[in-house]
Amino acid sequence: MKLFGTNGIRDIVGEGLNARFVADLVGACAAVHGARGLAVVGTDARTSSPAFGRIAAGALSMGGIDVTELGILPTPAIQYNVPLLGARFAMIITASHNPPEFNGIKGIASDGLEFTKETEARVEAAYAAQEFPRMPYNRIGTISPDPNGGARYVEGILSHVNVETIIKKRLNVILDCGNGTSAVTSTLLLQRLGSRYITLNATFDGTFPAHNSEPTEANVQGLVKTVRALGADLGVAHDGDADRAVFVDEKGNYVSGEKILALLARECIKEHGGGTVVTPVTSSDSVAEVIAPFGGKVQYTRVGSPVVTRKMKEVGGIFGGEENGGIIFAEHQMARDGAMSLAKLMDLIASSGKSLSTLLAELPPYHLVKVKVRCPVALREKVLEQVPSILDSGKDTEVTTLDGVKVRYPNGWVLVRPSGTEPIYRVFAESKDLQKAEELAKNTAKKVEEIVSGLEAHPA
Ligand code: MG
Repeated sequence: MKLFGTNGIRDIVGEGLNARFVADLVGACAAVHGARGLAVVGTDARTSSPAFGRIAAGALSMGGIDVTELGILPTPAIQYNVPLLGARFAMIITASHNPPEFNGIKGIASDGLEFTKETEARVEAAYAAQEFPRMPYNRIGTISPDPNGGARYVEGILSHVNVETIIKKRLNVILDCGNGTSAVTSTLLLQRLGSRYITLNATFDGTFPAHNSEPTEANVQGLVKTVRALGADLGVAHDGDADRAVFVDEKGNYVSGEKILALLARECIKEHGGGTVVTPVTSSDSVAEVIAPFGGKVQYTRVGSPVVTRKMKEVGGIFGGEENGGIIFAEHQMARDGAMSLAKLMDLIASSGKSLSTLLAELPPYHLVKVKVRCPVALREKVLEQVPSILDSGKDTEVTTLDGVKVRYPNGWVLVRPSGTEPIYRVFAESKDLQKAEELAKNTAKKVEEIVSGLEAHPA
């Protein structure tokens, strides 16, 4: 029985995700871990999260496990507290950036990383076998609230940046919490960094009245306008569980995630005098280019943050991340961390004395173009078989099939891969020549469309 997806369990509240399911699933986690020690429970700010969080705490306690309830906090804040509190595992109730009707459950291991595939499989087996622990009255675990999880997490972040330098700069920052969990932690971080900050949507509201919880350019137009109107130094927006951060420069331009990834990767490698950066095959070549002079090298992976963090642990990577604003600093913790990205970017702006737009203009001028192609899920594999035939892979090219098919040419690359969550194929093309990147993406997408319609017209 498969319950866990690429990033935990996500489903619609009242349908797949209901009280009974949460109690049984968390009960199965308790069964797998055994009736002893401590577990942590924390939630995002969705309407159903307090209820599911209490059900989870109850199920663990009835399984003979003591519970520390951290309340509403960002996913990375909860992860940070797991090893710190000596917990054996954690249950996080969150659906990250999904629409308001969703919620979800993430399992976190004692090291603060997501459950391994093996643990997930054991939980799924226990759930299928209805193995829910039933402890007698004298073996029930305790449940204790802990209001200090957010403060501990912010202190952890502060220990990795030049606090005095940032405070001196008194940066004007506009923070869009998107009615999510960052309202409690990124505000505290900005206070501690001496920022003259203004918040938008900084009240918890699981109906997401201001904008959807995913910090796309379209969703954070309120932030863009506020940065422009107030002449701020920086704008930042988090998704609902604040493991991601996206930025707006001082001119009011939304900054693409791959540029922030390259900028912060370079700083991290520079600071550590070399090291490995782990990032998926979809990432811009600018990352590899900017870290090379400082002794950095890139290790590519499949798409998905749990894959990136596990690979970082395996190869001793010091920095990792994806172009969607999810960045991992190993010195802090092996988890995507929106507030840590904000602190590191403020550190770079303050220490360099340069504005964000100036720092971005110094990056190599790569253009990464992304196009979607509709493809029914049933045809996903058949389409993938035919993809190599449409890509020019002659002399001077290098083909990678780590995730989808990527072909590298002397002056750019193209990648075709099926989405894991939506009925689409994604085509990525990158070059220093914008027109070339656009043409490569457009022509490749057209060929993928032809494969899909060919298969639809003549099903095998
Ligand atoms: Mg998230």
